[in-house]
Amino acid sequence: MLETGEGKALKKKLSACVAVFTLIILVLAGALAYAVTALRQKDKAAAVTRERLKESGELLSSAESSLSDYRAKAEEKDRLNSDLQDKLNKAEEENAGLRKKLEALSAKKAEEQAGLIAASAEKPSGRHVCYLTFDDGPSDNTLKILEILRKYGIKATFFVINSEKLDYVKNIYEAGHTVGLHSATHNYSEIYKSTQAYLDDLKVISDRVESIIGIAPKVMRFPGGSSNSVSRKYCAGVMSSLTRAVEELGYSYYDWNVSSGDALSQTPSFTYIRNNVLKSARDKNSACVLMHDSDTKTTTVKALPEIIEGLMKMGYSFEPITPEVYGYHHNTLN
Ligand SMILES: [Zn+2]
Repeated sequence: MLETGEGKALKKKLSACVAVFTLIILVLAGALAYAVTALRQKDKAAAVTRERLKESGELLSSAESSLSDYRAKAEEKDRLNSDLQDKLNKAEEENAGLRKKLEALSAKKAEEQAGLIAASAEKPSGRHVCYLTFDDGPSDNTLKILEILRKYGIKATFFVINSEKLDYVKNIYEAGHTVGLHSATHNYSEIYKSTQAYLDDLKVISDRVESIIGIAPKVMRFPGGSSNSVSRKYCAGVMSSLTRAVEELGYSYYDWNVSSGDALSQTPSFTYIRNNVLKSARDKNSACVLMHDSDTKTTTVKALPEIIEGLMKMGYSFEPITPEVYGYHHNTLN
């Protein structure tokens, strides 16, 4: 069949139409694919956002739960605090009550003590013994002291040293007083340089006394007392060792529980000495009184009559120390 020119032109137009139509279809398909992809991405983003929102929600809920825990704990703490405060208030009340009771008891005790002191001043009860002791003699004052003791009819104890007046131990002994040993030299740096040094010194004074009165005394007192710490300068532990050593040798040593204070200075006032003794002896059942018999102790002699009379008023009787007398030991400090 023959194709006409018109037929050819129509065919060409038809081909062009098909091409345009195909292009349009392709464009539409591309647009659709794009739209679908875009929608999917949007969905994904929305899902992520939802997920994050969910997480935030969980966090918030956890925070709320923590806050509520914290509030509960705070409330519990407040409650405990208040309980504690209550207990504290109660304890303070109880304390105040106890304090009142204690004050009442103290007042009662003070009254009773005052009563006891008054009673003992008026009417001494029991055995009230006093041992008057004089260290460091004999001296210029020894005979004066002996005369005072004679006048009051009482006996005392003299712890002697190797003095120029040692012969007075005869007077002391014959008047019925106790002659005790103290030291030959009374020189701390010599006698306390060793245990043996003091024992040697003690032997010297013992022999001297024995040569005068015919007996070797068995009662003694350490210079400075067994509690002296000055000996530490010369020999550590010497007093602890000596207190054992002298007892092993058969001696009884004596310290004191009433100090006259007459060694405080060379010659203290007699009122000071008297008051020291009387104040200190007042609350004791027995008294071992430390005084000194040396040339400078004139005020001790002057105080002695008032000391004796004061002690007598307190109900004390006076005795010389004998080896059987127990006690009056200080604690050794060296
Ligand atoms: Zn002495």
